[in-house]
Order: sequence, then structure tokens, then C-alpha cells
Amino acid sequence: MEIRPLVEKYREELVERLSALVAINSVRSETLPDAPFGSGPRDALVAALQMLESDGFHTVNLDNYAGYAEMGEGSDVLGMIGHLDIVPADKADGWDTDPFEAVIKDGVIYGRGVSDDKGAVVACMVAMKVLRDIGFPLRKRIRLIMGTNEESGSLGLKYYVEKEGDVTYGFTPDGDFPGVYGEKGMIGAVYRSKNTCIQDIEGGMAGNVVCGRCRVKLPRNCYSGKRLREYFDQNNIDYLIEEEGDSSLITVFGVPAHASTPELGVNAISNLMVGLKEAGLQDPFVEFYCTHFGLTTDGSGLGCNCKDEYGALTENNGMIWMKDGVIEGTIDIRYPVTMTAKKVIRLMEGYLEDEGGSVEITRTSEPLFYSPNSPLVSSLVKAYRDVTGDTETEPMTIGGGTYAKSIGNTIAFGCAFPGRDYHIHNTNEFCEIDELMKQAEIYVQALLNLLEL
Ligand SMILES: [Zn+2]
Repeated sequence: MEIRPLVEKYREELVERLSALVAINSVRSETLPDAPFGSGPRDALVAALQMLESDGFHTVNLDNYAGYAEMGEGSDVLGMIGHLDIVPADKADGWDTDPFEAVIKDGVIYGRGVSDDKGAVVACMVAMKVLRDIGFPLRKRIRLIMGTNEESGSLGLKYYVEKEGDVTYGFTPDGDFPGVYGEKGMIGAVYRSKNTCIQDIEGGMAGNVVCGRCRVKLPRNCYSGKRLREYFDQNNIDYLIEEEGDSSLITVFGVPAHASTPELGVNAISNLMVGLKEAGLQDPFVEFYCTHFGLTTDGSGLGCNCKDEYGALTENNGMIWMKDGVIEGTIDIRYPVTMTAKKVIRLMEGYLEDEGGSVEITRTSEPLFYSPNSPLVSSLVKAYRDVTGDTETEPMTIGGGTYAKSIGNTIAFGCAFPGRDYHIHNTNEFCEIDELMKQAEIYVQALLNLLEL
């Protein structure tokens, strides 16, 4: 059976629907009585459910936390699970077009959310319609589940699971093709100084981003300015040293990167600390920082460097600040998919405190792992391969987290094609209309495969 011509019928409608959803700014905002994540996420959900209702599907709105459209029958549920909320966008940040208007140029749609994840949701709508057009008897129920709070906590999907339970098999089109069978576990922690001569320090934007800029104030006569400059110059680090009375103000510039790939960035805090130590500063906190983190990103200073056949532990220092004379900073650890938080924390015993500072673990989340040979993973990968002809790209594990961690029997599958960068969470986010059509085709094939399990 040829799926592609059936998908093509909906090309124009797909673009119209995506444009309508992009026009709704669904960034999380103030909670209202009927809008747990603000009016934008609510309005996007209501609009999407209206589209699916006009298609004739049975739709359910779960108190504006999440909603779904359904067809088929039986006790098994196959889920396609996307999200309608977005991260903020501002034209002034460097967008070439209005981020809340879908602008089409040469078959490419620009706008916030076109790739993450509104485009995928609309492609899933098309997949449901095509499956109905095929007229295949459905012994399982097929649900397009839409959450409204993926970008800031996945609470909408948690609400769905409380009300409706897990799916029998599912995928969330909010990751990569040909499929993501493992997502690393996470440990969040905070370190604190015990005593230090540093007068003030501030750096970083978020715990899950490599620190791109850090500024410190300290007495000017306690380190060698010459050796500090040498360190920065030898390591190609951008910096600025200003004098203010008896104090030095030092600003260090790094290169931000996502916390799941800290080795791709240059950490401003770490280079500042190592630079100060090299410049002869004798300070208990700087000593503590260099011993426990330094320039490493593998957790070795915390005793928890480890890896499995799917990948190694990573550690990121995203933010640092000073409060009431105490320096505090964030630690974001992503640990291998076959480990447990308990095991990793056991490795850290004996590494969490010394004279200069201490580390406190604040939260943990377990990894997600399905065997690449499991029926779920292999059916999805087969759908991707059969539709695209790409048999080279292997399914993968990632350091980030998706909806798959919040609902059972689900992996991330699409919507990003291998090697592409759609500027997700960035300016000028885009998607290609032809790729959206291909996505829909893959999802139809994926559902057909899952129906046979
Ligand atoms: Zn997303």
C-alpha cells in the first residue's frame, strides 16, 4: 500500500493548521482558574482539539492540562504524545521574521514551535486521518495525546497519566529519528563554600547550560595578575580585568552548550577558578572547586566518573552566585542509562565535603532504557527505515529528557531527521514542509507496525 499519496492530500491543511497554532503564543504564563499553565498553552490545546473534533475524532480535554483525540477500539492504547507549549521567543533576539507568525519561504516554515513540537503534533493529526482513510480495522485505540507543559516540567502529561494511565505502546515525536531508546538519568546538586576571600561572584543563565559568562570581585593583591593573564591567553579564554579600589573585577567569557554535552562548551566558572589557582590565589573555596570540578566534565572530581556501553556520565557547572557571604552553584549530572541514581551517589561518598566546601544532592531522576531489540523500538525503527530508505543511521541514547520519561512504554521517535539543526529553542526555528509530510508518512507506518504487536 502506498501511504505517501494519502498523506499528500493533507499538505495544505497541515500548513494551515500549523500556522494557526504558531499564531498562539503558548509560553507558560500566570496560572488562571481554568488554565494551569496560563492562557497561551490552554488556547493552543483548545484550538488543536477543535481541529481534531472537526475531523470527527472523539476528543477529551483534561482540564486544560492535556487533551487527546482517539479512534479505534479495544483495551490497548497506542499513543502519539506531543506538546503544544513552547519556549519564549522575541523578535528582538535576532529573528528574521515574527516568531508568532508562520512565514513560508521556499517550502520552509519559520516560527516558534514549528519544529518543537507543533509541527510534529500536526503531522500526527495527518497520520490519524490517513490511518482512518486506509480503513484498516483497528483492534487497538489510537490516541494523539497533547500536553501543554513539556518545556517547564511535564506536569500536563503527569496529569494525563494520573487520569488515563500509561499507553500500551507509544512514541513522542519530540526527539530524533530513527528513535531514542535510552535517556540518561539525572542528579541535581548544589555546592556551597565554607570560607573564601572572594567578595562577590555571579555567573551562568541556567543549571542545564554550560556557564558562558562569570564575573568575580576579589582583593587585588592576593594573586598574580600577570600569571592570570598568561593562563587566559594560553587557553584562548576571553576575559576582562578591571580594578576598583583595592579590588579586582574579573569577567571570564566561555562558550555555552547544553548540560548533556558539556564537553562541547567552555565553562567560564571553571576557567576562572583554575586560572585563579594558577595565578597563585590561595583560597579554600577555589581549592575546593578545582579539586571537585576543575576543567573536567566527567564527574571524576566527585568520584562518579563511569560509563556503560551506551555512553559516559557527564557533569556540568551551570550557575554560581553569592548569598550572605556563601558561594553557591549548581551541579547537573547525567548518568549512564543502565545505572541507578543510588549507585552513582554511592560512588560519590567521601567526595562531597572538605575544608573548602560541601555538595548537597537536591534531586534525582532515573534513566529510561528500552533494549534496541525490544518490539517497541524495533517496530518504530523499521517504520523509519522502510519509509526513508535510510538503513545506516542507528537508534540512539541521549543525555536530555523527553516525555518518554513521564509515561510508560514510550520512546522519543522523530521529529528531527539525522544531522539536521532546526534551531530548536533558538532564533529562526524552522521546519520543511516536505519533511513534515515525510514525518506523517513515517508515523502512519509506525502505527501500522504497532497495531501488529
Ligand atoms: Zn519539545
